[in-house]
Amino acid sequence: MLDFDTALANLLAAARRITEVETVPLLAANGRVLAQDIVAPIDVPGFDNSAMDGYALHIADFAAPPTDFLISQRIAAGEVGTNLVTGEAARIFTGAPIPAGANAVAMQEVCSVVYGRVTVAMSLKNGANIRRAGEDIAAKSVVLAAGTRLGAAEIGLAASIGVPTLPVVRPLKVALLSTGDELVEPGADLGAGQIYNSNRYAINTLLQTLGCVVTDFGIVADDREATIELLKTASAEHDVVMTSGGVSVGEEDHVKAAVEYLGKLDLWKIAMKPGKPFAHGRIGETDFIGLPGNPVSSYVTFLMLVRPFLLARQGVTAITPTSLPLIAAFDWKKAGDRREFLRVRLNNAGQVELFPRQGSGVLTSMVWSDGLVDLPAGQTIAAGDVVAYLPLSALC
Ligand code: AMP
Ligand code: MG
Repeated sequence: MLDFDTALANLLAAARRITEVETVPLLAANGRVLAQDIVAPIDVPGFDNSAMDGYALHIADFAAPPTDFLISQRIAAGEVGTNLVTGEAARIFTGAPIPAGANAVAMQEVCSVVYGRVTVAMSLKNGANIRRAGEDIAAKSVVLAAGTRLGAAEIGLAASIGVPTLPVVRPLKVALLSTGDELVEPGADLGAGQIYNSNRYAINTLLQTLGCVVTDFGIVADDREATIELLKTASAEHDVVMTSGGVSVGEEDHVKAAVEYLGKLDLWKIAMKPGKPFAHGRIGETDFIGLPGNPVSSYVTFLMLVRPFLLARQGVTAITPTSLPLIAAFDWKKAGDRREFLRVRLNNAGQVELFPRQGSGVLTSMVWSDGLVDLPAGQTIAAGDVVAYLPLSALC
């Protein structure tokens, strides 16, 4: 058996980076990977502005009583005021530019206004309640680095510096095939011995989350010729061909022979649970990935091995999630001979609870869980021990 870290390292070493770049409008950039650094053309904020609704004034004026000020102007967001002179304050609103001659803003909650004059009930420091120009972003600085996966925060930031489009890595084209004569599509009736094809939907969804464009080739029969034919077609126009099932070495597993016939294949027995059978190879220039058939095995293998591979192909820099040390609220008495990824979730005490059924076909475990415990081979767990918790949210 191949250990997990070696398998991952092999996969990452085989991940050729996509170099083609396309430019997309901001709203089309969600889930995509930034291809080039983005440099801010402007300062943000672009000018000193008020962080509060209140009164802009000069603090030196406090030293010379009376400390009430003549309200000489009103500046709303989007307007520009005029120069303040000694003894004057400007009524000002959040986001409005600080007028020349002011160096602090008194928030309105500490002010009282009588007959066009404002009295400020507390002393202020120079710069109080002022957001300085360039305080968040300095012009010419890199605000988003190439290899960043783009989401709401990154897209909002790009908009905040006035950038309307982003250069992104062209999406990976992935062909997806499900093997298994027992598989039936949801919506159809089940015959004797049949099951619904769940991997097709789970894996397709995972691929989309990673920004891949998926072509679904449906179910391929457990037959050597049929598998060869469909793999040949699927590999033609895609960066990656992915199958689920049929990758063990049983008589009904034809993926291995088919990929070996069309290209080259490494069949790995990875020392991980759920998981184990996993195949990586090439058909021409197209990567081949064979996931295990058991739904939880294919899901977890995807998260732990295929996800990093697909992100690396897209040039993503942050691909390996960090686990958190948390307290286990359960016992795990039997040490395994493979590294295990237990389905768990956090309880109200912030401790990790175990889903009771850890079988590789128990898809309810993935729904119940919010994380995986990464348990090295040969280890047991007693309640109270610190375990390595990987949040599923970090594996999207
Ligand atoms: P295999 O690797 O083809 O021997 O499949 C292992 C187990 O996973 C068997 O119980 C299969 O019925 C099941 N399985 C394979 N493919 C799928 C699928 N697409 N959806 C749900 N279960 C599957
Ligand atoms: Mg099968």
